Formats: sequence, C-alpha cells, structure tokens
Amino acid sequence: MDSIKLFMLIGDPVEGTLSPVMFNAAFKSLGLNYSYVAVRVPKKFLTDAVGGIRAMGIAGLNVTIPHKIAIMNLLDELDDSAVSADAVNTVKNQQDKLIGFNTDGEGALRALEEKIGKIRGRRVLLLGAGGAARAIAFSIARAGAELTIANRTVARAKALASAIEQKLGVNAQSISIDRPRLKKCLEDKEILINATSVGMFPNVNETLVNSGMMHRDLIVNDIVYKPLQTRLLTEAESAGCKTVNGLGMLVQQAALTFKIWTGKPAPIKVMLAAAKRELRRRSR
Ligand code: NAP
Repeated sequence: MDSIKLFMLIGDPVEGTLSPVMFNAAFKSLGLNYSYVAVRVPKKFLTDAVGGIRAMGIAGLNVTIPHKIAIMNLLDELDDSAVSADAVNTVKNQQDKLIGFNTDGEGALRALEEKIGKIRGRRVLLLGAGGAARAIAFSIARAGAELTIANRTVARAKALASAIEQKLGVNAQSISIDRPRLKKCLEDKEILINATSVGMFPNVNETLVNSGMMHRDLIVNDIVYKPLQTRLLTEAESAGCKTVNGLGMLVQQAALTFKIWTGKPAPIKVMLAAAKRELRRRSR
C-alpha cells in the first residue's frame, strides 16, 4: 500500500459536517490509503494552522466558515474558480505549493441541472451574496441563466451583480429582500435558490419566502442541508412547487474536490449513500 495521505476540513464549528463520512467512504471504495478528518480551527489560529498544514504535508483541505475568504491570502496560488467566487473551499497541496479552488458554484449547478435540466435562458432569483451565493451566482450566470440577486445587505447584492457584469459581460439584477419586492420579483421567475443561511439549524422555522409568495411553476432549491427539509422547501411544497434540497450540492461539490485531489473521478453514488446513511443515523 502507498504511504498514507491526510486530508482535512478546517472551520469553526465543524461539528455536524458530513464531509468525513463522504470522503472516507470514497477513499475506501477506491482502495486509497487516505484519511480525512474535520478539525476545529478558531479564526485567530488560521495562519498557524496553514503553517502546520505545510509543515505536516497535509495533502488537501476543505475550508468552511469562517475561513473561506481569510485563507486566500495564505495560499500560493488561486484557481480561477476561487478568484471569481472570491472564496476558497478546497486546497490542493501540490509539491508544497498550496493552491486554492472553489467547487461550490459548479457543484450547485451540477446538482440543480441533474434534477431540472439545463438552466440556460431560465430566470433565476438567487437569495444571498455570501461565500456560497457568490460562487453559485458566477456559475449559473456563466451557464446562461438570467440572474437576479437579492440580499439583506443590498450593497453586497449590487456589488455581486456588477462583478458578474464586469467579469462575465452578462447582465445581472440586484434587489433588496423586503417581502413585497421578493413577491413581485418571483412572479416571472422560474427558479428560486436560497443561498443564505436563513432556515439553517437552530433557526429551522425561518424563511425569507413563504408559500403565498410563490407560483406553482416555480422550482425551489435550498442549499441549506441542516436540516434537509427546510421551512422554505415545506412552504414550496404547499404551494405545489418542485423542490430540490441541499444534499445534491453537498455531494457534487465534494465530488469535484475529490477529482482535484486525486485526479480520479469521484464515486458519487458511494458518497451520496454515505451521506444519507449518516443523516439517517443522526435522525434516530
Ligand atoms: P455566509 O458567507 O456567511 O453568507 C450568509 C448569507 O446569508 C449572506 O448573504 C447573509 O446576508 C445571509 N443572511 C444571514 N442571516 C440572514 C438573515 N437573518 N436574514 C437575511 N439574510 C441573512 O455563508 P455561506 O458560506 O454563503 O453559506 C450560506 C448557507 O449555505 C449556509 O447555510 C451553508 O451551510 C450553506 N451551504 C451549503 C452547501 C451545500 O453543499 N449544500 C455549500 C456551502 C454552503 P448579509 O450579506 O446581509 O449578511
């Protein structure tokens, strides 16, 4: 067997992550002598942690809240995916050079298109302008969707729309998240994506959009996966809408990361089954 390679998730908090079970199942299924652990790294220790990763020759990292932006300055190189998303969720250690990538946007796009077909030319309202929303906005605009971005801090939605216009040369709209505004905007939309943390555990009863603001032809995708069935998705079901939960994105972004680290196609079915098994175990 090859010598062991170590992979890590760093973030704060990291409790509840599904990444170790997905990656360890994937490594095992391909007979790779690799291991993945989640490590809590408080904000103030990020620089030390990245030094430790270099010193110990950790082969790859996943990066989550609150380090996705701060880590960018500590790396040697950034892939285009990280530059446009302005955030890193994956790091590859290539002969002691740390290279940052972002697989959230492409992962979200793949998961959505797998369920609803191509999004080219479809009208999308995206809620959020944080790390995940930014990555998703770039990949769906690149895929040809007509994009409107709504965010609590409207200046961030505006900045994201203008970054898309500047970098991709396509038009994107921005609006605030007040309810009458969102309701009006949704009238001609085909797809709603929630990429805010609203509805995430422990605030599981919260939603920015309720059933009265939706029409039955709307497709509603929530990227929040803690819980999988969010209040937004329950509201969407009661309005007769098709829904897509956050599990597909979670698995697809991990699969893209797996390919970056190993050069091999990810065993997606194994990863999905491991994530579902773990979710079932936790709900018992
Ligand atoms: P983030 O960078 O912290 O961004 C949070 C976003 O939510 C911002 O747009 C923020 O608006 C908005 N927000 C937070 N609280 C709000 C409230 N009370 N009312 C209205 N808007 C609010 O977080 P992130 O990394 O983008 O993650 C967002 C969510 O996506 C999290 O739940 C995360 O678990 C999930 N996620 C899922 C996957 C997956 O694979 N399924 C991958 C990545 C992330 P402001 O700009 O106004 O603060």
